[in-house]
Amino acid sequence: MIRATLPRRKRIALVAHDAQKPALNEWALRHQTELAKHELLATGTTAVHLGKALGLPVHAFLSGPMGGDQQIGARIAESTIDVLIFFWDPLAQMPHDPDVKALLRIAAVWNVPVACNSASADFLLSSPLMSEAYERDQLDYAAYQASRAP
Ligand code: PGA
Repeated sequence: MIRATLPRRKRIALVAHDAQKPALNEWALRHQTELAKHELLATGTTAVHLGKALGLPVHAFLSGPMGGDQQIGARIAESTIDVLIFFWDPLAQMPHDPDVKALLRIAAVWNVPVACNSASADFLLSSPLMSEAYERDQLDYAAYQASRAP
């Protein structure tokens, strides 16, 4: 493991499946003041909903089923996303279920804080660590590569 420093201003990725979009909007509105201190990024449709509800800039990736989840996963692997708020739908089948699983997996690989419902997102956003630089344990990719070298 190595240490990676997360900035005070976090890069927060937000994703909500369709049935969860009202819950994410409601949650985000409750935390508008805190969210305004950070950089917000979201899958395509979620970004439109959040931007409208919050009146804050939200960077839009592609829509989730069109590759947006994978774009966020790639950003996590590149250490350019610090927090993932992912309101996935536990009661519906998704055509992009492999992408959902992949996003949750890559967040675990890189030790990125994840909240999958409003209660855990409340705890996460109210952490004092949100407004501090934070030393996160992170996979030592160079060591991983070296261990696999021919
Ligand atoms: P959406 O994607 O924000 O474009 O609806 C979310 C998802 O299904 O992953």
